[in-house]
Amino acid sequence: MSERASDAELRDRAAKVVPGGMYGHLNAAIFAPGYPQFFVRGDGCRQWDADGREYVDLMCSWGPVILGHRHPRVERAAAAQQAAGDCLNGPGPVMVELAELMVDLIPSADWVMFSKNGTDATTQALMVARAATGRTKVLVAHGAYHGADPWCTPSLAGTTPNERADLIEYPYNDLAGAQAAAAQAEGDVAAIIVTPFKHDSFEDQEAVDPAFAQGVRALADRIGAALVIDDVRAGFRLDLRGSWEPFGVRPDLTAWSKAMANGYAIAAVTGTDALRGPAQTLYSTGSFWFSAVAMAAAKATIETLRDVDGPALMERAGTRLREGLAAQAASHGFVVKQTGPVQIPWLSFEGDTTLEKGMYWSGACLKEGVYLHPWHNWFLSAAHTDADIDRALAGTDAAFAALRAEFGAD
Ligand code: PMP
Repeated sequence: MSERASDAELRDRAAKVVPGGMYGHLNAAIFAPGYPQFFVRGDGCRQWDADGREYVDLMCSWGPVILGHRHPRVERAAAAQQAAGDCLNGPGPVMVELAELMVDLIPSADWVMFSKNGTDATTQALMVARAATGRTKVLVAHGAYHGADPWCTPSLAGTTPNERADLIEYPYNDLAGAQAAAAQAEGDVAAIIVTPFKHDSFEDQEAVDPAFAQGVRALADRIGAALVIDDVRAGFRLDLRGSWEPFGVRPDLTAWSKAMANGYAIAAVTGTDALRGPAQTLYSTGSFWFSAVAMAAAKATIETLRDVDGPALMERAGTRLREGLAAQAASHGFVVKQTGPVQIPWLSFEGDTTLEKGMYWSGACLKEGVYLHPWHNWFLSAAHTDADIDRALAGTDAAFAALRAEFGAD
């Protein structure tokens, strides 16, 4: 019965049994009008909603899908592990194999601790930093997203002031601001947490200034705090070794999740030898943190990304998309900004502070079978071929035309 239910029917039923019909960042009511809530299938870089509509997927399930939905090598590895057992009395040998793979690949990693969601990993990284330093405060960039636990959720509903009291904010890319935040903590900084680039929702993205990356590394060293890179969103798309490796900046701790297992639920913290002892002291665990299927999927995903040079494939697809969108916007008479790395892109319209145009355009893309997002960055996968990008561009072109008919050119 439920297999054939329409999106509208599912929403009606969900409204009765799920708070708000859907909660959190996947609530389609907070995107743009017309967005489907429920999806029934994914394959490669395509997804199908509950009404059977097919989309070129430029969101990749908000990041986790990096090789394409149902990637054969990942599915084979997961199925083989599933046949042997998933949730056992202890982790499988695959945990050791996966940790070895990550330690080999990631220069700042001497050890790995596994969990399930990005929030587990960012929270666990801060616990390691606090256990190591015996300190309390954490420097965090204003507006940055690090997860949905009480210490970091963007909405204060259900949290107490105490749960936020140990955060001191600094402006992203502003080294003097980070230094001032550190001074404010008077020697009590356990960690500086930072995303590899600025990817706050509702805003243009911003590349990191390499001098800022190097500066926060030096600041953390000077004050004896841990530098934590939150690579949950960008990890494995930009550089398999870690997103700041190209700048020569190595963190003490890194939080990983999202794309690590091509959609299977897993997260990890990697850290340096100096933090191995403190990491060992944590009581940090979860019923499902050691399920072997996700670990087998992660191992296959990371090996595949390494073998095919996944970041380069995504860079190619993302460059084709960016160049195509730039040409289309110009030909339709719109001034747009395309920000973020091409693998994790976003497009905004000049002067569109209310996001009116962005909302309309993304809704028009949706009608043309292209699933992207009006106020959150998009994600490319290694499954996006030139033909897929061209198919997406055919849809975005029609959407620009619809936007011009509605609003006129800039
Ligand atoms: N950090 C960053 C940078 C993220 O983008 C996210 C997820 N959007 C998280 C942490 C939290 O991850 P999760 O939703 O898996 O808990």
